[in-house]
Amino acid sequence: MSELRDLYQEVILDHNKHPRNFHAVEPHSHEADGYNPLCGDRVHLELQVNDEGVIEEVGFQGDGCAISTASASIMTEALKGKTVEEARALFERFRQLVTEDDAMPDPDMGKVAVLAGVREFPMRVKCATLAWHTFDAAIREEGEFTAE
Ligand code: ZN
Repeated sequence: MSELRDLYQEVILDHNKHPRNFHAVEPHSHEADGYNPLCGDRVHLELQVNDEGVIEEVGFQGDGCAISTASASIMTEALKGKTVEEARALFERFRQLVTEDDAMPDPDMGKVAVLAGVREFPMRVKCATLAWHTFDAAIREEGEFTAE
């Protein structure tokens, strides 16, 4: 288990150091700003969703802790090519994974599951879910999300 943990740690550190899809998306159909006042994490998310409801392009910008940056980076990789519906279903499973003690990652969750460890640190759950809530706000056209 500790080897697995080291691997997870490595993935998180890598995505924090080299965030994927860290850029604006032009043109974009959806955008939102997320803020986690408990940690000071800020994320700006832009997505291009096509007429079939497929997320063609997604990028984020902002400034936050290692967990929030890594989670946003991993999320953008996971969302690209998914339908909005599939993406929302993944968000729900991710939310369960980081908040429910007995939730187990499905193999098809991929890298998203590396953040499961944050559930041992309730403060960090808000960092890990910020990008996902911001995605949800963008799709709902609410424009912004603030963690409470
Ligand atoms: Zn944070």
